[in-house]
Amino acid sequence: MQRREFLKKTGAATAAAVAGGAIAAPAVLAQKKYRWKMVTTWPPNLPVLQTGAERFAKRVSEVSEGRLTIQVFAAGELVPGLGVFDAVSQGTVEAGSGAAYYWAGKAPAAQWFSSVPFGLNAQGINAWFYGGGGLELWEEVYAPFNVVPRPQGNTGVQMGGWFRKKMETLGDFKGLKMRIPGLGGKVIAKAGGTVVLLAGGEIFTSLERGVLDATEWVGPLHDLRMGFYKAAPYYYYPGWHEPGTCLEVIFNKKAYESLPKDLQLIIDAVAMETNLWSLSQFEAGNGAALQELISKHKVELIRFPEPMMDELRKLSMETLEEEADKDKESRKVHEAFKKFKEQVGVWGSVSENAYYNVIADKYSLKG
Ligand code: CA
Repeated sequence: MQRREFLKKTGAATAAAVAGGAIAAPAVLAQKKYRWKMVTTWPPNLPVLQTGAERFAKRVSEVSEGRLTIQVFAAGELVPGLGVFDAVSQGTVEAGSGAAYYWAGKAPAAQWFSSVPFGLNAQGINAWFYGGGGLELWEEVYAPFNVVPRPQGNTGVQMGGWFRKKMETLGDFKGLKMRIPGLGGKVIAKAGGTVVLLAGGEIFTSLERGVLDATEWVGPLHDLRMGFYKAAPYYYYPGWHEPGTCLEVIFNKKAYESLPKDLQLIIDAVAMETNLWSLSQFEAGNGAALQELISKHKVELIRFPEPMMDELRKLSMETLEEEADKDKESRKVHEAFKKFKEQVGVWGSVSENAYYNVIADKYSLKG
C-alpha cells in the first residue's frame, strides 16, 4: 500500500514537473561521454584491415549510442605505423589496431598471437583465444606495457607468395631475395634466403625491377590490388608461414579501466564481432579475387612441392624452439601454443581435414 501511495505521489510530482517544463533529463543523457583516438598500422583505405578498424569504431559508437566515439587515424596520420604500440602503451592515444608480430622487438612472445609458421589456422587460433586460454596469456604478455589486447580480425590462410622463377627444391631459396616478415622470414633466412623488409608501397617496384625475387603479401583479395601478377608470374600456395594471421585491437589499460563496465563489455563484444566480420570478408573476397587472377590475368597457380614443405616445416620447428629459448615468456607461450595445436590438430584431422579431403576434388583448380 505504501509503495502504491509513493508511486501515486511521485507520478503526480512528475506530471507537475513536466507541465512546468522542469523534468530532469533521463539518466542516459547525463552519462559521461568518452572521446577516444585510435591509431593503426595500416595505410588509409586498406580493405578489411583499415576499413575493419574504422568499422570497429563506427560500431562502438552505434552500440553505445554515442557514449564512446573513436576517431581513427591510419598509419602516418598521427603516429607512424610502427609507433602504434608505443602510442597506446604511453597513453598518447587510447586505442590502436595492428598485428602482434610487429611488436616482437618489445615483447618477443607477442609473435605467437599473430601467426606461427605451420601453426594454427583461423579457426584454431580463435579457439585458442576464446576457448583455450590464449587470450589470457596474451593479456599477460602485454600487461607490463599497460596494453589490453583483443583479437580484431583474421586473414585466414595466406598465400605462399609471388615468385619470378619456379621453386622446385628447398635449395632454390638460397640467395633468393624475398620480402617476408616475422617468423616466416627467419625460416627463409635459415633456408639460405635473403630477407628484405619493405613497406607496402615499395614492394611492387622492387619486384618489377628484380631488387626482389619474391614477395608474400596477404591473399588474392589484397595481392590482386597490389598488381603483383604484373611483376612475378608464379603464385604459390599455401601460406605455410601465415596460416591464420590474427589482427589485433589494443587499448591503453588505464583508458580501458576508466570506462564503465558496460562500455568495456561493448568494446569487447564489438572486437569479437569485427573479428568474425573480417575473417568473413577475407574468405568471401579471396575466392572471387583468385578466380579473377586465374581467368583474367592468367596467373600460374602452383602448390609448393611436398618435400619442400616438409623441409620448411622442419626449419620452422627449429626456428620456433630457438625463438622460445630467447626468453622465459616466449617459452611459456610457445609450450601453451604447441599443446593446444596438438589438441585441436587431432580433432581437425577427423573433422575439417577429413571433410575437406572428401570434397577437395570438386573444388580443385587446374591452374
Ligand atoms: Ca603476409
